[in-house]
Amino acid sequence: MSAPDDAYKGYRDPTLSTMRRFEATVWSKVRAHTTRGTFEGLVLPRSEIADAEHVVLKLQSGYNVGLRHDTIENIEVLGYREAVYRVPEEEFPSDPTKPRVRLFGTGGTIASRLDYRTGAVIPAFTPGELYGSVPELADICNLETEKLFGVFSENIGREHWLTLAERVVEAIEEGYDGVVVGHGTDTMHHTAAALSFMVQDTPIPIVMVGSQRSSDRPSSDAARNLLAATWTAAHGPIAEVMVCMFGPTSDTYNLLHRGTRVRKMHSSYRSTFRTIGDIPLAMVTEGHLSPLKTGWRERRSDRPPQLHAVWDERVTILYYYPHMNPDVLDALVGCGYRGIVIAGTGLGHVNTKLFPAIERATAAGVQIYMTLQTLWGFVQMQVYETGREILARGVLPLANMLPEVAFIKLGWALAMHPDDPDAVAALMQENVTGEMTEREPHDGYLLFQGGVPEMRELLSRIRS
Ligand code: ASP
Repeated sequence: MSAPDDAYKGYRDPTLSTMRRFEATVWSKVRAHTTRGTFEGLVLPRSEIADAEHVVLKLQSGYNVGLRHDTIENIEVLGYREAVYRVPEEEFPSDPTKPRVRLFGTGGTIASRLDYRTGAVIPAFTPGELYGSVPELADICNLETEKLFGVFSENIGREHWLTLAERVVEAIEEGYDGVVVGHGTDTMHHTAAALSFMVQDTPIPIVMVGSQRSSDRPSSDAARNLLAATWTAAHGPIAEVMVCMFGPTSDTYNLLHRGTRVRKMHSSYRSTFRTIGDIPLAMVTEGHLSPLKTGWRERRSDRPPQLHAVWDERVTILYYYPHMNPDVLDALVGCGYRGIVIAGTGLGHVNTKLFPAIERATAAGVQIYMTLQTLWGFVQMQVYETGREILARGVLPLANMLPEVAFIKLGWALAMHPDDPDAVAALMQENVTGEMTEREPHDGYLLFQGGVPEMRELLSRIRS
């Protein structure tokens, strides 16, 4: 077993020495007795980014556990089973009566069947690989796939947004009935916002999807999310940029969120995406969609949409904190930033210490916009003296636009009108694609933060 064993390379590697002492190798099935208890599982090759201190076991449950070498008292080797992390490829059946959907892969957990040795993401994105893993996809549509990038979503940025927007528009022009974009969940809402501004008036659904848990884990949401997203792209009536992710905490349905009103709100729950300041567009399962909201754009047969694939990277978000000193703002201006979105406190405030720095920034031609840390509710800068003072210094309020959405929009607006600050300001304050709403629904904040069935159940228990 030389190749995987190399993963535990190095003479002074304490984990390797421990494994050798007990004659265990990578892929050994072992029972490890440690000071923290006994664990039974398969020794996995070490990822390149893992440390030299732990043996990683894949337990029967599908979860991995890292055992620190100095807690290991004894290892019994029970057998040997080399895992094959290849996705079974089968030819995706083609059915001319079914809609055509284009799936773009960008990376993230949904694309990862983790190669434990390299830590690399294996692109499970050819139609054959997808069909091999989720054969039900073939009941929905003819799926054509393309891996655009293979990165975790913290590495997504300007170039990815531009390429993705261009490729999505090409797919629309080529006559696909829907587009699915597989993406890491961490920054999916940024990309959803970028696509919403860059691809306007789409005649077909553009559905972003990801998963919080990779498909080799028993509780993975990958297949469920993929099926719901693919069904929405193929058959759903809503022609917008949307995020389709797990709805409630139980495996009941997915929610469709508008691309400019959605946010990742939990670091590990599968039900992590929430519509903020509004209610989700719809509940969806593969085969059925119940609208929750009215006023969405309907699927059309005309094309093409408008493509505005531009973005100026000299924008930033300034998340205000008490005691913030003005040098932070001066530094941003000094670094050449042209647009700043402030996430302010309460109704849209920062401390008075920043006022001179705001004046210096706006005098230098930097555009400053106000959004809220509270996420729900509207910027209202006429209520308190502080707000009025900030307004008087040229900071423009952005209603209930989410800070990340405002950041993406500002980069886009600056690139749309590079030499016309008034046009940028007008565009920022115009509702282009649902990023600002007239009012927030009274039930949105309470009801749709959980899951609808769970809330009903909770309420009936409280009432009885
Ligand atoms: N870090 C991953 C990403 O955003 C997490 C995920 O995909 O859920 O790419």
